[in-house]
Amino acid sequence: MPPILEIENVTVSFDGFKALNDLTFSMAEGELRVIIGPNGAGKTTFLDVITGKVQPTEGQARFKGKDLSKQAEHTIARLGIGRKFQTPRVYLNLTPRENLELSCNRDKNVFATLFTKTPAAEKRTVSGLLETIGLDHKADVPAALLSHGEKQWLEIGMLVAQSPDLLLVDEPVAGLTDEETEQTGNLLMSLAESHSIIVIEHDMEFVRQIARQVTVLHQGSVLCEGTMDEVQNDPRVIEVYLGQ
Ligand code: ADP
Repeated sequence: MPPILEIENVTVSFDGFKALNDLTFSMAEGELRVIIGPNGAGKTTFLDVITGKVQPTEGQARFKGKDLSKQAEHTIARLGIGRKFQTPRVYLNLTPRENLELSCNRDKNVFATLFTKTPAAEKRTVSGLLETIGLDHKADVPAALLSHGEKQWLEIGMLVAQSPDLLLVDEPVAGLTDEETEQTGNLLMSLAESHSIIVIEHDMEFVRQIARQVTVLHQGSVLCEGTMDEVQNDPRVIEVYLGQ
């Protein structure tokens, strides 16, 4: 099977400073890949290139063989790439159920969605998602009353409601309790059965829980790739982290 995502010799320069420097990366369909790297390594810029927020100065990014350069962010989202930012972006005065219903209807008018009857198939999708993200028991309370972890899961559910093939998830466990962290790992692993996922994360315990394959970024390039054990024992990785 061809890779779902290919980044080929991508450089991103900001006024001459290379946030990404000749970066090459490839990932197979169905993979759950974790990207780690010290602050300033280029992790955010890497996601920005994939979503079209930032254009490569050189090189090419391809999703399912399609060149992503010069594509608008909303076009790339429609191709099937969904991104979850670090801070949850849910509608706090709406319930988890309503938030998910809105996400299923992202292209429709928000108010029309709230005041029209939800079709049966969509209701089933939303109920299934509420169960997947573990919020079926809080489906009808305002999202403002959810914990930080529950809001993160709701936002992951909202992304999944848009049926992306590739999910980009930025630091999903920052600020979560140990139990919430473990639950987030279980959620991502269950989503990985039907999606390709890239997770950026600093919490190494969490990375160990979810990752089969880890990519380490450093100074805008891939420093090394491998299992968590391989990566953690790589002298280059040890040097980069201890040298911080
Ligand atoms: P990470 O997410 O790994 O911490 P980033 O991708 O945010 O790294 O940043 C990589 C480097 O590029 C950093 O040194 C950062 O200061 C720089 N950088 C990122 N965005 C910009 C920008 N818009 N203008 C100038 N420099 C930037």
